[in-house]
Amino acid sequence: MSIMVPSKTPALITPGQQALESALHQLNQAAEQLGLDDGLRTMLATPRRSLTVSVPVRREDGRMDVVQGFRVQHNVSRGPAKGGIRFHPSTDIHEVTALAMWMTWKCALVGIPYGGAKGGVAVDPTVLTTRELERLTRRYVNEILPLIGPEKDIPAPDVGTDEQTMAWIMDTYSVNAGYSVPGVVTGKPMTLGGSLGRAGATSRGVQIAALAALGRSPEGVTVAVQGFGKVGALAAQYLSDAGAKVVAVSDVTGAVHSARGLDVADLRAWVAETGGVTGYRHGDTLGHDELFELDVDVLVPAALEGVITEANAPRIRARLIVEGANGPTTPEADEILAANGTTIVPDILANAGGVIVSYLEWVQNMQAFSWSSNEVEVKLRDLMEGAFGEVKSLAAERGLTLRQAAHVIGVGRVAEAHQMRGLYP
Ligand code: NAD
Repeated sequence: MSIMVPSKTPALITPGQQALESALHQLNQAAEQLGLDDGLRTMLATPRRSLTVSVPVRREDGRMDVVQGFRVQHNVSRGPAKGGIRFHPSTDIHEVTALAMWMTWKCALVGIPYGGAKGGVAVDPTVLTTRELERLTRRYVNEILPLIGPEKDIPAPDVGTDEQTMAWIMDTYSVNAGYSVPGVVTGKPMTLGGSLGRAGATSRGVQIAALAALGRSPEGVTVAVQGFGKVGALAAQYLSDAGAKVVAVSDVTGAVHSARGLDVADLRAWVAETGGVTGYRHGDTLGHDELFELDVDVLVPAALEGVITEANAPRIRARLIVEGANGPTTPEADEILAANGTTIVPDILANAGGVIVSYLEWVQNMQAFSWSSNEVEVKLRDLMEGAFGEVKSLAAERGLTLRQAAHVIGVGRVAEAHQMRGLYP
């Protein structure tokens, strides 16, 4: 028996189902390489726990809205579950399951003792007031309370959530526990036990991965970044700081381009002031899709899943894609790009900097201790560069793409943990 893949009905498939199909396809390929038996394959394809909850929210005008929330623990064989919480209108149980599965392989790949999880609420946070957001967050957390905890499942920020969200989660959990539990979430504000270096960790990891994959000086290397949020904006900043020329960026409001290179710090200030990249004066307007087709050296997708598809992959000219986002490339696009000689540093490696420093934050919380930013940065760099080296060697040894090699390592470690633990009872 092979891993069950949801049936393909292209007209009806949601972006979440598409993401889960991609994740299962990648798992299947790794399982083949590893020669895993059917029982273990099914175990790895199936989330350990999935919870769907209804979240009632009192709006400012007194109305009550009810939205759906999810928390999926894909695998906990190597340690507590770990994964972000996403607030986005189109999130669903399939997307959250796919994201949880990628977290499992990512943690195993970079060698941190966690399983994979993810959470989501199907809501557009940009239309809620701060007080509505706080009520929504606290109620959602209350609904998933039986699952989370510093030794069970530790949330973090993802799309549409931030350190304020994490502060509310930490407070809600702590009030229920009767004492402060900083280790229940990561990506917290510094004042509540956050770690130095966490805010920029995912982007720092993207920069480290990009420079390792380039294998030459980044001076003058041209870069386009899709998504200018927590990950994309700082990835653009760090790549620019390293000497690369960021020529285009986009966010949900639009895309801007400058062949001379954008002043990323100035653009970040513009976005902080206006809420989006659109209307930025020192660049030309670009169509959303045009960004992918620019003649650049490096493309960094840092928004959502499924944006590089068989439709646009043949027109992508970047020689290197570094996946800041989770699941931006479909398996069909992967094949086209591999055939065209494009190198892709896959999500589970390229964006692992976030969970690495989340792990460091949690370790500091659990021992009530704090490290300097230099200590955090050195540990992050070690883990990122170590994982990159392992993936690159395996890919060369077995003739695999970096994504296939990364999955063989990640899935292989989780499979080994299952085999060593055995099946209870
Ligand atoms: P965010 O909400 O801070 O930013 C998302 C950005 O994407 C925003 O700028 C938004 O405007 C933009 N966007 C949305 N739709 C777009 C579109 N169609 N075209 C262009 N831009 C669009 O989220 P984030 O935390 O930066 O996460 C981005 C990606 O990185 C997600 O895939 C997430 O799972 C992944 N990731 C995040 C972290 C983390 O630490 N935050 C860690 C690992 C991976």
